[in-house]
Amino acid sequence: MKSRKVFVAGNWKMYKNIEQAEEFAEEFKKIYKPVKGVKVAICAPFLQLQTLKEAFEDTDIAVGAQNMHFEKEGAYTGEVSGEMLTELGIDYVIIGHSERRQYNAETDETVNLKVKKALQLGLRPIMCVGESLETREAGKAKTWVRKQVKAGLKGLTMKDMALVTVAYEPIWAIGTGKTATSKQAQDMCKYIRSCIAKEFTEAVADKVLIQYGGSVKPANAAELLSMPDIDGALVGGASLVPGDFMKIIAR
Ligand code: PEP
Repeated sequence: MKSRKVFVAGNWKMYKNIEQAEEFAEEFKKIYKPVKGVKVAICAPFLQLQTLKEAFEDTDIAVGAQNMHFEKEGAYTGEVSGEMLTELGIDYVIIGHSERRQYNAETDETVNLKVKKALQLGLRPIMCVGESLETREAGKAKTWVRKQVKAGLKGLTMKDMALVTVAYEPIWAIGTGKTATSKQAQDMCKYIRSCIAKEFTEAVADKVLIQYGGSVKPANAAELLSMPDIDGALVGGASLVPGDFMKIIAR
């Protein structure tokens, strides 16, 4: 039996306008049944956060953003600060998703600045790491992921780590329908835990939540989440459909 909680977070990416977010919330609330020991969050586009916060006010469903800037304010056109998120009562923020690393020049250094800033504000970061297919095929996946974990968590205290979730998302499995096997996912999540033990302590590593992300669906969620070092899932596509998302939570 795992002593850690399970954490299932949806990542809507750039899907759903306000009306669609309202429709989702209405439908999801009808079918949502809290599962003991499972924390649920939905990370939506910025403009839909307030809608979801209000819709889920009377539930235990948390709301998260998909990015934030590390500065409080300034001449950063198009950006949103962590302070702006906490003003809305946002609980979580995804940091360093591979799509942001790929398309928005996110680096291990900006990821680290954002993780630290989120923690200062009491926002819980979901820090994403994961290798490309090329890196995996070159046999360098673990070296790559270790570097991302180490750099992203640099300078954090043991206390900070209690609020951090690490999401292992192999890039080749995101939105591709190609899931890592439960063995591949477990193997890397276990390795991430050992890296955290090295950077902090065994006790910290033992408590930290590590999610797997990459084409998680109702059909494969149970097997992935039964793995000893996989504490939950970061779910893209399947989190857009209330019934599918609930099936993953209830798996
Ligand atoms: C994601 O967006 O983080 C993700 C894992 O997407 P999908 O589940 O669609 O592969």
